[in-house]
Amino acid sequence: MNAVLPPTLIDGKAAAARVLAEVGSEVLTLKASGIAPALAVVLVGQDPASQVYVRNKVLRAEECGIRSLEHKLPAETQEADLLALIHSLNADDSVHGILVQLPLPAHIDETRVLQAIDPLKDVDGFHAENVGGLSQGREVLTPCTPAGCLRLLQDTCGDLSGQHAVVIGRSNIVGKPMAALLLKAHCSVTVVHSRSTNLRELCRQADIVVAAVGRPRLVDADWLKPGAVVIDVGINRIEEDGRSKLVGDVDFDSALTRAAAITPVPGGVGPMTIAFLMKNTLAAARLQHPATGLPLSTVENPA
Ligand code: NAD
Repeated sequence: MNAVLPPTLIDGKAAAARVLAEVGSEVLTLKASGIAPALAVVLVGQDPASQVYVRNKVLRAEECGIRSLEHKLPAETQEADLLALIHSLNADDSVHGILVQLPLPAHIDETRVLQAIDPLKDVDGFHAENVGGLSQGREVLTPCTPAGCLRLLQDTCGDLSGQHAVVIGRSNIVGKPMAALLLKAHCSVTVVHSRSTNLRELCRQADIVVAAVGRPRLVDADWLKPGAVVIDVGINRIEEDGRSKLVGDVDFDSALTRAAAITPVPGGVGPMTIAFLMKNTLAAARLQHPATGLPLSTVENPA
């Protein structure tokens, strides 16, 4: 991490293309041993953003040679009916990964639904068994966004041992699993959140900053130590200069003046999330067929 060099733009699209190519070739190997990886994606309701996410996931799966099954249910679907579908997908040996697109309608208990997914098919890594396994440092299906962020960091910095990482945000989807992954990669980890004091000062001590907040351009150069590596998870839609645009949780132009490397929004973390969903589907297929002898390798990491 050298502040004297011009900042590196961490190209998430290119990194994701590499991950997807790896997955594609490993899918061929798996198919040669008689296993055709398949991902079931369940969407309840017609939320436009969720529909786009699901469509993209299905398209990516097909590009990698992973069979995808879409289950689109009406918004008024009862929880019992959704649980029945999950139980039937759990029991179906030809389905290796199950993803329930969030958020679910308010009348459905999200935790109960996520807990109903077989942990071996839980490609989002949200089941308590996988959350616990990650915090124990076991090799389990791991949430896709933080797994993608870790890969970007390892590609950019190499060995992360001893680096001080500050994670901004403590959500179950990003912040907490990110912190667990960075600990597993031997970083010293500080997690800051909406109730933290001295956010800026804590951030300024970081070699690595991961921002997962949902606040447009919260982090600027003043929050960064020269030479910090910045991963911007945030996706915020704002109106500016008379048009709608997507920005991150980091003020990109300002951060460029201090950071050694930074992800853009869009084109940074976003493409990695979907690439790691494919990687997790492959890993789930292997978990369910241990006789293949192939490693799980969701996240490359020393013990
Ligand atoms: P969340 O709302 O569940 O959690 C946000 C976290 O930020 C909370 O822990 C909260 O304590 C913290 N926070 C809020 N305001 C803060 C402040 N002023 N200072 C410090 N901390 C504060 O959100 P999330 O699901 O973790 O998502 C965070 C962002 O990442 C959102 O913009 C979301 O759209 C984006 N996201 C992107 C991807 C991707 O693939 N790129 C995936 C998931 C989420």
